[in-house]
Amino acid sequence: MANRRERHSKIQVAGFEVNVVRKGVKNLNLSVRPPDGRIRLAMPHRVTNTEAREFISSRIDWIRRQRQSIADSVPPRMHSYTDGDIARVWGVGHTVRSVPAINRRGAFRDGGDLVLALRSGDGSSQRIALVDGFLRKELHRVLPDLVTSWESVIGVNVAEFRFRKMRTRWGSCNIERRRIWLNLELGTRAVESLESVLVHEMVHLVERRHNARFYGLMDQYLPDWRHRRTLLNASPPPVSVT
Ligand SMILES: [Zn+2]
Repeated sequence: MANRRERHSKIQVAGFEVNVVRKGVKNLNLSVRPPDGRIRLAMPHRVTNTEAREFISSRIDWIRRQRQSIADSVPPRMHSYTDGDIARVWGVGHTVRSVPAINRRGAFRDGGDLVLALRSGDGSSQRIALVDGFLRKELHRVLPDLVTSWESVIGVNVAEFRFRKMRTRWGSCNIERRRIWLNLELGTRAVESLESVLVHEMVHLVERRHNARFYGLMDQYLPDWRHRRTLLNASPPPVSVT
């Protein structure tokens, strides 16, 4: 049979925009594609928009799960914090500048600069350790108040939170121990991003799975969480080179 041309259109289902491609295929094939979670439905020419909508509607939970796993996976990039590099702190770019350490090594902000006090012979691993330490301190300064206020909103109690470098996730939650891990890289993003990851993990203390109830709670507590997630994942974290 001769292959008819592909026809492209867009339809909206449950707030999701779906790119529909009619082409010479036998079955409907729905996919959610990284990095931005675009949704595509390839289907035979004969399928109507109404039928396509029904098909998509029956797979909304699946679409959400796919989007979440794309959002959770964080592709690596490189970073070494050499002088002149831009290092972000709470979403604001700071120029990395090094000075000789008088006594101890350290990192601090000075206007638009992130200053690293280094000893002679220090290389990229010391620079990375200083920036990591700086971000960790910033996160510990900001997070406790956020946790406290969200504990009373969501009605859960976080036993412990920790920060670490994670290659593939922004956060994770040990539900039994009520312990939340957050990616150290969140200190480089706007505080709204930290908050959206925190709320996501805290909602897992109420609902373990990424199901309709989970997303219903997210919509209730943080109506713009999708937007925040998109911003967060628009630029994945660098992975430090040691
Ligand atoms: Zn989750």
